[in-house]
Amino acid sequence: MLAYFDRENAGQCGSCFNGTAAMAAVAGALRDGIATDEDLARLRRWSVQLRGRGACGTLDGAANVAASLLAQFPQLVQHHLDNDCAACASAPFAAARPYAVEEATS
Ligand code: SF4
Repeated sequence: MLAYFDRENAGQCGSCFNGTAAMAAVAGALRDGIATDEDLARLRRWSVQLRGRGACGTLDGAANVAASLLAQFPQLVQHHLDNDCAACASAPFAAARPYAVEEATS
């Protein structure tokens, strides 16, 4: 979801353009088991401080996703921080395509 906000923001506000990219980068590092305690602290700070800093609700939406991740899934976040997630160890993460791409027919 954070990658979505990073990809889809309009790039008109520096706080949103850079903030969504930074939050998505930390989420990706967590997913890949390479995030640090400092990364997590930055994500926690951004999830609060970036609210209300964009011209529309996009940045707030991204900050809400980050805050929800930290508040609702603290154990999973810690497992990924420690790189000992049992689910990831048994089946590496692979995002499903959100839609089917139709083959071009000639
Ligand atoms: S906060 Fe809204 S207007 Fe500003 S860059 Fe993000 S999407 Fe665009």
